[in-house]
Parts: sequence; C-alpha cells; structure tokens
Amino acid sequence: MELNTMEKADRFMFKTYKRFPITLVKGDGCIVWDEEGKEYLDFIGGIAVCALGHSSPVVSEAIYEQSKKLVHVSNLFYTQPQTDLASILTENSFADRVFFCNSGAEANEAAIKLARRYSREQFGSGRNVIITMDNSFHGRTMATLSATGQERIREGYDPILEGFKYVPFNALGDLESVLDESVCAVMIEPIQGEGGVVVPDDDYLKGLRDICSTRDILLIFDEIQAGMGRTGKLFAYEHFGLTPDIITLAKALGNGLPIGAMMATEKLKDAFGPGSHATTFGGSPLITASALAVVKSLIHDGWIENASVIGDYFKDGLITLQKRHSIIKEVRGLGLIIGLLLDRAGQDIVDACAKRGFLINCIQDKILRFVPPLIIGKDEVDSLIECLDDVFNEL
Ligand SMILES: *Cc1c(COP(=O)(O)O)cnc(C)c1O
Repeated sequence: MELNTMEKADRFMFKTYKRFPITLVKGDGCIVWDEEGKEYLDFIGGIAVCALGHSSPVVSEAIYEQSKKLVHVSNLFYTQPQTDLASILTENSFADRVFFCNSGAEANEAAIKLARRYSREQFGSGRNVIITMDNSFHGRTMATLSATGQERIREGYDPILEGFKYVPFNALGDLESVLDESVCAVMIEPIQGEGGVVVPDDDYLKGLRDICSTRDILLIFDEIQAGMGRTGKLFAYEHFGLTPDIITLAKALGNGLPIGAMMATEKLKDAFGPGSHATTFGGSPLITASALAVVKSLIHDGWIENASVIGDYFKDGLITLQKRHSIIKEVRGLGLIIGLLLDRAGQDIVDACAKRGFLINCIQDKILRFVPPLIIGKDEVDSLIECLDDVFNEL
C-alpha cells in the first residue's frame, strides 16, 4: 500500500521534529494551504523567516532571474550579488565587515570563532570564555548548543564545548560577578526568541554595553530571529541606543532561502584572514541575489514600518483580550515578535487554532508565539484575535 507523506516521514526520517499533522503544499502572502485545500492564516511564517510572506513575487523573481545567470561558483571568485548584499547590510547598520554562511548556527559559529581569534591576537591565549544567557538559543551545532543556556538543548551531547558560562538575562550584577580575565565576549539575543519572547528591561543592554566597553569585552548580538525588520526597526539594537561589536543574522534575511551573516566593526577585520574561516556554499550568487531583493524590499517598501504599526495594533488587541481571559498572564514583545504567556500549557490551544485555520506555535510550554510575515494587515490580526477569543471561551 502506498504511504502518504506523513506516513513516509514517520517511516523514513529521524523524528527530530514534533510536527503538526498537516502537509502543506502552497502559500501566498500570509496564507498557506494543505493538500486537501484547507486554508491557514500563518502566524509562524516559517519561524520568523518568511518576512515578505509566502511565494513573494520579489523573491521568486530574484531567484528565477539569478538562476538563469549563475547559481554557485564558490568563494574563490568575486560575484556581484554577494558584494552588493554586503554593501547594503553595512550601509544600513553599525557594521563594516560581513561574512556570509548558510544558517543561523553557522553565523554564530563565525561570531564565536571571530571573537576568540580577535582576543587571542589582542590579549594572548587564555582569554576565550564567552558569557551567554540563561534561556538563550544560539543554534544546534556543537559550539552553538554549548553556547545555548538551556539544559534541554544540550542534553545527551556531552562533552559540550568548554568556554561558555551562563548568567541570567536582565541581571547585570550576575554578569559582573562572573567577569574575569578569561572572558572575551558576551553573546546575547537583544530580545530572546525561543526562550519565550523576553524583552530586556530598560537600560539593561546599555549597562551591558558599558561593562563590555570598559573591560574590552566584545558584545555579540544574536539577531537571527529579532533582526531584519521584525521589531519595527531593521535591527533590534536600534531600539536600545547602542551598537554591539558583532551581530549575527539569518532567518528572515533570505525569506526562506538558506543564508546567515555575521557582521562586525572594522576593528575586528584582521582577526579573520585568508584561510581562517570559510564555507563552500555560503554567499552564493543565487542566495545573495535573493537576499538582496529581500533587504531592498524590507527597507524600501514600508514593511519595517508595517511591522511596527501592526505589531502595536496586535499587542493592543491581545491586551484587550487579556482583560476577558484570565488564562493570559502576560503579553510581551516588540513589533511582530509577540509572546503570550499563559497560566497553563499551550499545545491544546495551538491545536484548536490549527483546526480553525490559524497557525501559531507554543514555546517553553506555556508561551504562544506570533512571528507572522511583516506584510500582515489589521484584518488578519483581528481574525486571529477572534479565533483566540473563541478558543479561550471554549476552555
Ligand atoms: C533560529 C535561531 C538560531 C539558529 O538558526 P538556524 O538557522 O536554525 O541554525 C540561532 N539564534 C537564534 C536567536 C535563533 O532564533
């Protein structure tokens, strides 16, 4: 008997994911369809990836046009899409130098390697510890899971890499108490994503910046989830009146094509030289031409502004909903990265929403997370809030 897609996945693939019992076949903007033709409004957006929505004509055209010219040549050669993407990213940020790779974890690997190499050059050996935060998420490779401050992500992979220490988020005192001569960098998500959409307290990041500057410690911002317009600014750091030394990007940078970027200030430029770090696929003309189209559209077509306006509207709607439903403990987020902390596990609510044609997800057991495409409008937000209202009423 012929197995269907879900049965084949169960039979032939590692069960690394807890999936919805849904097989998606098509998408357009904020909508996706399953194989039976059922329509869903998508508030997951490929996990904060599809900022311009599904089947974005901007992206499709860039992929098609570049695919007819040149797809891949390796980094032994210069290509224009790659250098154009590096230019637009540096022109619009604090950063001066870019390294392209294929994923968020790889971008963080590059940041970790750059920080350690720079510190070795500047201060000699022994200065290599990187401080990260409890409940952080930096990826699934050995170095990035070692950097990740969540026991459950590191479980079973001993020995994890040396040279990482974890401290609580939003707590400068705890941070200062672990700083010594061995510390070369602090790596932090300015807004924690997988950890539960945690927004920093006022002046926390500024205080962190000051501490790092005073002690010559590098500050690395992991903006893989919060960057690229999601918070209502192109980069999340812009909200906080400071700049990091290194930033990492991925998720929405390619709107679904695999790309990561690690960027840094000019003072770090010589820490990586020929042969010190590399990737075969990273920064290929196909992927960078597409990402260039994404970044241009985000900047020039008003989507970052939309993320800010709709994000505020969305949060207001949820706060109004909170007044009617005591299940909601807290509404938090910035722009279109929004979390709803519940007083109980949220999986049943996720399932009930999916039945009604709304895709949301639940992180850290009790937090509903909304990271829709940045092109979303008020009507879509209204209909999700109505759906949540119904679902909470039926509890
Ligand atoms: C998703 C994510 C990563 C890992 O990115 P991958 O592309 O899955 O390797 C790292 N950091 C943050 C903050 C993320 O949200």
